[in-house]
Amino acid sequence: MASFPHNNRTFQILDAASKGGYAVGAYNCYNDDGVIAVIRAAERCKSPAIIQIFPWTIKFQGPHFVKYVVAAAHSASVPIAVHLDHCIEPEDVKTALDLPFDSIMVDASTLEPEENIRNCREIVRVANAKGIAIEAEMGRIEGGEDGLPVVDMDSILTQPDLAKSFVQETGVQFLAPAFGNIHGKYGPGGPDASWRLPLLMDIHRAIPQIPLVLHGTHGVSDVLFRETRKYGMVKVNLNRTVRDAYTYFVAQNADKLELTALKTRGVEIYASSIERMMLDVLESAGKASF
Ligand SMILES: [Zn+2]
Repeated sequence: MASFPHNNRTFQILDAASKGGYAVGAYNCYNDDGVIAVIRAAERCKSPAIIQIFPWTIKFQGPHFVKYVVAAAHSASVPIAVHLDHCIEPEDVKTALDLPFDSIMVDASTLEPEENIRNCREIVRVANAKGIAIEAEMGRIEGGEDGLPVVDMDSILTQPDLAKSFVQETGVQFLAPAFGNIHGKYGPGGPDASWRLPLLMDIHRAIPQIPLVLHGTHGVSDVLFRETRKYGMVKVNLNRTVRDAYTYFVAQNADKLELTALKTRGVEIYASSIERMMLDVLESAGKASF
């Protein structure tokens, strides 16, 4: 979009990754430990990063928490954007557009396709005018994640030709396709059995200029993560993949350590899980200057 400000942080981070042949992690954070862990990992690895939160966080911790996250992310020595993941309720979109997010994912995938297009087009118009980039989901990615409803319908896969017209008609900056990926735990055979990579390739070829976003990454192997880069996956949403070691540590030590020691050591464990992804899997390490 000609009118879209290309100095938008999320846009710049993903555009550089797209051109540079690497991917950038979008790390779901629920508290300050997560935020500190992402910033430390990104600074140590000289990597760009995206911190993402759910609408639940805005409701639970209030808009002031979002302002803290943005202030911390934007003060880092590397490019870090702040993104709102799965914004479903129109009220939440309205609230989010008045907060300093760099980008917002509008999840209108439970609406009828024409309604989804109409809805997204209007949000893109308002958001882009404020300098906020928009990610949209097309088709439907099944499953439940923290604070998200479990979609109890057959998964609807993204059709490449419709993806092309969706992007043209709405003007969205990034697209989250549904190609057999699901939120939460995969069934037998895991993501390898569930993902339809030829379909994903067709989607990428239909809209090669649009950075694709990978949702449903729990249980994805390093090999498969690396593979997705060939299919235009530039933003890789990471939640439990980098959080489980931290959660486990906290569960084991919460009654043994003072809170200061628990947080200090917990954040270190969290950060090293993130660093591993930046260095070995996404290859975003060393890509902080563009
Ligand atoms: Zn998702």
